[in-house]
Amino acid sequence: TLLGGLLLSLLVCALIYFSLLSWHSAEREILRGLKNKEFFVEYQPVIDAKTLKITGLEALLRWQHPIEGRIPPEIFIGYAETQGLIVELTQHMMSMVATDAHQLQHAFPEKSKLSINISPHHMNRVSFHDDVLNFIEALPENAFQVIFEITERGMIDTEGALREFNWLRFHNIEIAIDDFGTGHSALIYLEKFTLDYLKIDRGFVMSIDQKTLIAPVLDTVLKLTEELKLKTVAEGVETELQSQYLRNHGVTYLQGYLYSKPLGISVLMNFIRDFNEK
Ligand code: C2E
Ligand code: CA
Ligand code: CA
Ligand code: CA
Repeated sequence: TLLGGLLLSLLVCALIYFSLLSWHSAEREILRGLKNKEFFVEYQPVIDAKTLKITGLEALLRWQHPIEGRIPPEIFIGYAETQGLIVELTQHMMSMVATDAHQLQHAFPEKSKLSINISPHHMNRVSFHDDVLNFIEALPENAFQVIFEITERGMIDTEGALREFNWLRFHNIEIAIDDFGTGHSALIYLEKFTLDYLKIDRGFVMSIDQKTLIAPVLDTVLKLTEELKLKTVAEGVETELQSQYLRNHGVTYLQGYLYSKPLGISVLMNFIRDFNEK
């Protein structure tokens, strides 16, 4: 199955990386990488499904290791979450994004959306509110609507999550449930929480032209989001067929290689302008 395959490939990756990096030194490596400025951010454009213009960006963390090369975020973020390093990584990420945002705002004629991924582990930490407030203050004023993308992985404490979501919304931050449909997501969250977006996982999007067993589930999810008046973002859109299907079924935003891979800030500025002028 999709989830089984995903977990297996993640496990294999993790084994390869940690045999190279060795579990014990991974923490030291991340801290060294932070000091050494080996982390940077790429941004993937998010496209409005109606106008087909870029109206937002998702910030994604990257690690260029001096010996191992690019280390996939699934690997080092998964590790950082278990070791509590996710707070340091996210603080660093937020400060890089805030700096970039002062330049990025000029690629858009009006207010655009800026998404960042927040680990549920981070939400439970004492520094969370300060980290968020520092981030908002460092952003250019009124240029971006901030969206936090949060997976339910590790979000065991429903009461706590509900409280944090309300606090975020009070500070004008929108909330997206990430990776919806990967098996971590329970439909009860949709009822309990006031959410803004549901991000439909790439596995669902792939099912459109592969006609797999989960394809009918996608239709059910899209009907449900319509009833709940939730905006949707489809991730991993790779083909024109997928895009057509998603747009015909009322998906609000599209994201994927069909439109753009995640890009570094230097090429991103011109890419957005050229794309939106078409
Ligand atoms: P995600 O949040 O689901 O991010 C989407 C992933 O799909 C990204 O992988 C993106 O590059 C990839 N992608 C986008 N469009 C396509 C497509 O059309 N085809 C394919 N095959 N892939 C596509 P990436 O950057 O490797 O990130 C993987 C995961 O790592 C993210 O999944 C997210 O869960 C996590 N992550 C990345 N950056 C951060 C971060 O700053 N903080 C946290 N907490 N997690 C992060
Ligand atoms: Ca995400
Ligand atoms: Ca996602
Ligand atoms: Ca995903």
